Amino acid sequence: MNNKIKTCVIGSYPVLTDAMELMNGYFNGEEVSWDKYIQYAVSDMVNAGLDIVSDGQTRDPFIQIFTRKLKGCRIRARTEIVDKVEYNAPITLKDQKYAKSLIPDDKELTGVLTGPYTLSKSCIDLYYNDEKDLAFDFAHALKQEAKVLQKHVDMISIDEPFFSNEIPDYGKELIEIITKDISCPTRLHACGNVSDIISELLEIPVDILSHEFKASPQIFDAFKEYAFPQKICLGAVRSDDTRVESVEEIMEHTKKGMDIFGEKIVQLAPDCGQRLLPRDVAFQKLKNLVKVGEKING
Ligand SMILES: [Zn+2]
Repeated sequence: MNNKIKTCVIGSYPVLTDAMELMNGYFNGEEVSWDKYIQYAVSDMVNAGLDIVSDGQTRDPFIQIFTRKLKGCRIRARTEIVDKVEYNAPITLKDQKYAKSLIPDDKELTGVLTGPYTLSKSCIDLYYNDEKDLAFDFAHALKQEAKVLQKHVDMISIDEPFFSNEIPDYGKELIEIITKDISCPTRLHACGNVSDIISELLEIPVDILSHEFKASPQIFDAFKEYAFPQKICLGAVRSDDTRVESVEEIMEHTKKGMDIFGEKIVQLAPDCGQRLLPRDVAFQKLKNLVKVGEKING
């Protein structure tokens, strides 16, 4: 049972169109309930049969989810940094607790943090004048969120899409601040073709590495060059393409991964977040992913 490959998501799920109206009020600072939207995302994931679900990140785009609630951040068209970034109060805990209340006991929940480097690169800095200092303050703030989440989720996934462009020489340190002494498993997700930065990624202290193996199969070859301690979350359906991969196609891809990585593959997932896909497409991709997981786990 320990070797079961679990099907899961990276984090985000399509946003219902009627959420847009709610968002306008929310963006203007009104207190609104997102329960309906979390509920539909979680129920789709549960109905698709996933082993590990998320809250769907339906509340906000993945930068503002965090910057909206951190001290020192001002939300305009983009987030502006106007003072020292500090943790204020739990950011995603309420959504995670609600998501947990919706899922059956045999399902797991992943918390999702947008990584400190990605946050630092996505904001307009009007205060620090030093990208590294800003990234480190985001890391310390996210550490507080990870400490709050660890008792309520089964895994914490750190989403660092900006690592696909470059990993700064302090990238390992940033992630280590968050993952050190966290009691639940941790995962790092980095998008794109990460072939050229594999050696740096493998230095990062997380339990699981998650990459877009479906859209960028070159990553298979890059990984083959190294021995490494982390487990693998295999991206097995595309997040940037509405074509629904067949069960046979996903199976073939997964077997290729298993031939290379063996028991290091512990999760099967979409390549990336599914926010930009139509809901029925996202759902069908997850369903086919689950069918492959069931076949492999026998
Ligand atoms: Zn991604």
